[in-house]
Amino acid sequence: MDGWSRRKLLAGLALAAAGQGAIANGWQARPKRKQPGREKTLVKGKLALEDYEPKSMLHVAETQVPRARFPVIDFHTHLSWSARRRQVTEAHNNATPEEVLPIMDRKNVRMMVNLTGGYDKVLEQTLNYWQKPHPDRFIVFTEPWFEKITELGYAQFQADQIVRAQALGARGLKVLKTLGLYLREQVTSGPLVKIDDRRFDPMWEAAGAHRMPVAIHISDPEAFFLPTDRFNERYEELSAHPDWSFYGKDFPSNQELQEARNRVLARHPRTQFVVLHVGDSENLPYVSELLERHPNMHVEIGARIGELGRQPRASRRFFDKHQDRILFGTDAVPRGDDTPQQVFGERLYEIYYRFLETEDEYFDYAPAPKPPQGRWRIYGIGLPEKILRKVYYENAERLLGLKS
Ligand SMILES: [Zn+2]
Repeated sequence: MDGWSRRKLLAGLALAAAGQGAIANGWQARPKRKQPGREKTLVKGKLALEDYEPKSMLHVAETQVPRARFPVIDFHTHLSWSARRRQVTEAHNNATPEEVLPIMDRKNVRMMVNLTGGYDKVLEQTLNYWQKPHPDRFIVFTEPWFEKITELGYAQFQADQIVRAQALGARGLKVLKTLGLYLREQVTSGPLVKIDDRRFDPMWEAAGAHRMPVAIHISDPEAFFLPTDRFNERYEELSAHPDWSFYGKDFPSNQELQEARNRVLARHPRTQFVVLHVGDSENLPYVSELLERHPNMHVEIGARIGELGRQPRASRRFFDKHQDRILFGTDAVPRGDDTPQQVFGERLYEIYYRFLETEDEYFDYAPAPKPPQGRWRIYGIGLPEKILRKVYYENAERLLGLKS
């Protein structure tokens, strides 16, 4: 018996035994040979954690979802950077529209929201590069001019900037976790500026009055506020990015940050807030309670399917309950190689679609050889079409004023 027919026979046996095609495919897909260099890392029976790449032996269904079932608005992307904790005078584009558009077409992504559009000259450049030539495909948000906080009259200046940004073409306001974790009274020195600092009140109000939704990223995974030690479930991620740890020093706790954001939500009921990364994706009961308390709050799922997908039953209930307030987003960064869970490309979208549309079990949440945010895999939540439509585009359309 030659190799080919033997494989075929084995696959046939597995198929007959279990009565479903997925098992047979799983059998064929199993690695048959040792990978080159596999033994090199084993020294006296010890294997370094970073070298450990276990392959799942589960025979489970693998559904390919090359296109979203409905046209998608990706509410959270970084096609360009404006400033990353320091002022820049030129927009830095991470890709060209010509590179991005064919991938969008293949993946059924109708529109991308580039949140980090910056302000002033950089905002104008970003609008001219992405939104103006392709108004049906790209939307750009503005960002606060935080460096001006030391100047007299900043509160009114910042509110006026929102109005000016909208006149230039910006469709919303993005606030990075800079607010709460990096911005200080003298910009980079002095005490941290609080999220609910009164100087921002006119800005939040201006956004509401001009129907600019506010995409706000507050805090980070709970493990980022704990020591990077053997008990930390994101040990590898924090080891790769030590600057993501907010443990110690004068950093507020995750809870303090969340509560300051909640006070802003309560104080500005006319302003629509899209709380990025689900707010606190490890604590869905808490987020659920907040959504009930604040009718002007919405959440976006970017870079958190690793969290949602490891609690699929709770997530499914969360989507059922808050289906009108959840937005699709990926936090995609073209060429964003240091964050594998966010690298813009076809594989990224396929994973999100698989999570939302199928009930597949135990698959990777990132297009990477090792799970980059923590050593686990995820489960699909198989949303019905009505909820998929809302999450993929209807909720975003409403917030962005795309429907008349
Ligand atoms: Zn982001």
